[in-house]
Amino acid sequence: MSLLAEDLDLADLGLRWKPGFTTLGPAFFTALRPTPLPAPYWVGHSDAVARMLGLPADWRQSDSTLAALTGSLPIAGTQPYATVYSGHQFGVWAGQLGDGRAIAIGETEGGLEIQLKGAGRTPYSRGGDGRAVLRSSIREFLCSEAMHGLGIPTTRALSVTGSDQPVRRETLETAAVVARVAPSFIRFGHFEHFAAADRIDELRALADHVIDRHYPACRHTERFGGNAYAAFLEAVSERTAALLARWQAVGFCHGVMNTDNMSILGLTIDYGPFQFLDGFDPAHICNHSDTQGRYAFNQQPNVAYWNLFCLAQALLPLIGDQELAIAALASYKTVFPREFDARMGAKLGLSDAGEADRPLVDGVLRVLAAERTDWTIFWRRLSEAVATGDLQPVRDLFIDPAGIDAWLATFTPRHGGLPSAAAGAAMRAVNPKFVLRNHLGQQAIEAAASKDFSGVATLLKLLETPFEEHAGHDAHAGFPPDWASTIEISCSS
Ligand code: AMP
Ligand code: MG
Repeated sequence: MSLLAEDLDLADLGLRWKPGFTTLGPAFFTALRPTPLPAPYWVGHSDAVARMLGLPADWRQSDSTLAALTGSLPIAGTQPYATVYSGHQFGVWAGQLGDGRAIAIGETEGGLEIQLKGAGRTPYSRGGDGRAVLRSSIREFLCSEAMHGLGIPTTRALSVTGSDQPVRRETLETAAVVARVAPSFIRFGHFEHFAAADRIDELRALADHVIDRHYPACRHTERFGGNAYAAFLEAVSERTAALLARWQAVGFCHGVMNTDNMSILGLTIDYGPFQFLDGFDPAHICNHSDTQGRYAFNQQPNVAYWNLFCLAQALLPLIGDQELAIAALASYKTVFPREFDARMGAKLGLSDAGEADRPLVDGVLRVLAAERTDWTIFWRRLSEAVATGDLQPVRDLFIDPAGIDAWLATFTPRHGGLPSAAAGAAMRAVNPKFVLRNHLGQQAIEAAASKDFSGVATLLKLLETPFEEHAGHDAHAGFPPDWASTIEISCSS
């Protein structure tokens, strides 16, 4: 008699697991199993993430893997769990939240956690159904990999699998599960949870866990009189500042920057009502549920700082000195502008960009905002123009070219005249041709709802290497159609 994994009703992904988050103890999570979904099917998958995990080349061949990544079959060597956290939502203390529909499988020996989002109810579901719909799961899957392709820190996505099981939102939709991957899914809200309850021992255990695994240099700091927790806060502030600079430069609007959606590792996390800007409207609000515009595009850097302030408050019992906490936070105010200047300088093709170039950056932002010029297409065309010396395709983007002409008259001398093949190539390497615009996602989602998953695969291929030309795919790099502005993306997912 064979003892194959199937015989035991267990999937064996061929991965080795090690104790991870659960070593913190039962105060931090609830052990539970995902709730199976019937007859799952593949919707999308990333071989790049599979390789990163160390899965075998034929990892998708087995039905048990498909079932396992949908939460329908337990995985050998794992003990799934959901974690508890709290947080501030839309600026208001929301109390306990937690993994209401994401169930962690465990941590691989390579130090990567796998989490199944949409895998069923947990003690933290608060009346929710524990599910995620196909629409938002495809968006999360594609955007995770798109952000990585853009060089932006993010949680990754191994797969999205679907089931015909109905899920009720505004209309009846179907269920899906995203297998997310990250070194850790710990959020600011995990710290807020224990701080708010005055559970300082657990707060310290959590901080020590994260410092030891992800910020070991904080143990040996000479800053802040050797205070490791202050150094930790400073390091998180710096990573968050660098992340926000990248979001702003690429035109990414997260949409729901609650403190429970802020990664302690400075990763982009929890893709919901996000959007890449089409036309440049600095005050763009992408989340239909965000009636006040708290998370408008141009508010993001300030909101991140506000969220870091909440984290600082949570860490205060460990830091022990308010002055130190304030000093640790201050790094955000220097790192964000520095990183933003560097990112915008790179977009402009300036290898030596500095503070002196700020008027050039402010100038182009003003010109783009005046006509809501398409963000991605403008930067790509500018890259071409620098390479070829032909400015006309850039001028063509404006109804009234006076503003852009005046700006170009200051920009081209900064390059010592055009063309500059080297600067153009450098610009093409930071100004993507392809981003996950809402309408592109929407087209892939509509096809997937009819079981045609080719659109998901095509987008993944383009978005994995978004700076390349990808001959034959210019339609994916074009202007959004008129109907794109009517797509409503809300917190409903
Ligand atoms: P989000 O806005 O997606 O970041 O979710 C905020 C909180 O609501 C988190 O605690 C989620 O786990 C929880 N949540 C969102 N949707 C559901 C759902 N369908 N079922 C259970 N919990 C959910
Ligand atoms: Mg969330």
